[in-house]
Amino acid sequence: MSIEKNRFAILLFLLVLILINLVVYAKLSDLTGSVKELDDLKSEISELKSKLNEITNKLNESSKPPVIIIRIDDVRDYEAAEATRILIQFNRVNHVKMDLAIIPAQFGRDNATLGSIRAAIIDGSEIIVHGYDHENLKMLSIKLQAETLRAARDQLSTLNLTSTIFAPPFFTYDEGVFDAMRASGFDTVSGYIDAGGPTLEEGGVYRFPATVTMADYVNGTWMRIDLNQLVGKVNLSVGRYGYAMILVHPQEFMVDGRLDADRFKVYSDLIREIQGLYSFNTISGYRSWSSGE
Ligand SMILES: [Zn+2]
Repeated sequence: MSIEKNRFAILLFLLVLILINLVVYAKLSDLTGSVKELDDLKSEISELKSKLNEITNKLNESSKPPVIIIRIDDVRDYEAAEATRILIQFNRVNHVKMDLAIIPAQFGRDNATLGSIRAAIIDGSEIIVHGYDHENLKMLSIKLQAETLRAARDQLSTLNLTSTIFAPPFFTYDEGVFDAMRASGFDTVSGYIDAGGPTLEEGGVYRFPATVTMADYVNGTWMRIDLNQLVGKVNLSVGRYGYAMILVHPQEFMVDGRLDADRFKVYSDLIREIQGLYSFNTISGYRSWSSGE
């Protein structure tokens, strides 16, 4: 009898143990379930937050007309390439799109610079063609001009880069360049405003010049223009032409072979100053925006 009793007690004990375990297990799984739910909720909230941020940014951006174009000329390997890369890096961080005017004969072997150009393109910037080897096209026959432009395009296409925009070196070109451009597949010429405002030339080439320079090249040195003057020029250009294309040369940020912090500060201050009123665009982007495409 006592053995039976013991057996019963042990069975009862085991049963209670199992019950306790079940309850603990149920509670635990409940708890882990709610932790998981909490995690899901958290990630949903952060997703919503980033979506809200995105929408706010877009709203802010859309209220600012995308009429500022930054054109960086003389993009090439090694020569002032450190300044080129720092400009690109700064612009990318600040959501500034750019037009990068490449000298194809002097470009493509410096991986750091090439990588930086590719990253900028992914972010919405574009490249443009700055001669083949920085030639003065005015000195060449129309046939040679066309050959030069074709060589430039071919060289860039070996790097999977392409553009139909031509920025003539020294800002110089004559009427002949339009024939040369058409013959080699270019549709836009971007010189400097001195040669006349934006217009569609006969034969369909679009002339779209830079309107503001960051510095003036006088007797072999880059003369700085102060911030207030630059902001004034940008506003004047937007008022007069509907856009401002700011021309930047990486060389102007180099003093004695080193990057000059003071000069770079003028650039970063300018960007911050105009960022309050306008947003940035590329030549192609501006063209479709202004024609309502
Ligand atoms: Zn140049």
